[in-house]
Order: sequence, then C-alpha cells, then structure tokens
Amino acid sequence: MADQILDNSRRRFIKLTAVGLAAAPFANALLSGTANAADMVSETDPQAAALGYAPDATKSDKRKDATAFCHNCALYTGKAGDAEGPCAIFQGKLVHANGWCTAWSKKAA
Ligand code: SF4
Repeated sequence: MADQILDNSRRRFIKLTAVGLAAAPFANALLSGTANAADMVSETDPQAAALGYAPDATKSDKRKDATAFCHNCALYTGKAGDAEGPCAIFQGKLVHANGWCTAWSKKAA
C-alpha cells in the first residue's frame, strides 16, 4: 500500500517535471501575451494530438477524471470565466477552458 502511494507520488512528480521542462522554453512567449483568439490549439496539431488534447473535455475518451478541465489545470493561465486561455504547453496559442489533455495536473487551491 505504502509502495503504491510512493509510486503514484513518484509518477506525478516525474509527469510534472517533464511538463515543466517542456514548457520552460515557451514561458517567455506566454508572459509577453503573444497569443490571441485566432491562435487556438487544434486537435490535429501534432503536439496536441500526442497529448490527446480535446477542446471539449467531455468528448475525450482518454479522460478519467470528470472534474478535469483546462480551466482547473496547473498549466492554464487564463482568467476565470474566460472561454479560452494560454497553456504553458502550447507556445503562443490558446486552449479552450473546457478542454483537456493528458498533461492535466490539478491546479493548487
Ligand atoms: S489540460 Fe492543462 S496542460 Fe492540457 S491543454 Fe489544458 S491547460 Fe494545457
């Protein structure tokens, strides 16, 4: 039991570290606010496809947590209530607030 908890923690740490490293080069572009509404992430974008991104989380067959959406993901930096916002994974593009991908990680309360 304790081993399983440690394994889950370790997996989560590795996942967050990998996501953080992948997103680091894009942080500057995100902070400069270069994304606009015309630059929405497409499901067919190779990176989005690799991460199983779905603009409507409820239509994803990979999503197991029904409460998981981009708007409550640690990597989402959009404003509460907005329909879309930046994601640290996708440089200069916006994701749907109600979207989801396999890199989802619960935003700290
Ligand atoms: S779930 Fe998180 S990492 Fe994935 S696209 Fe949405 S905001 Fe980005």
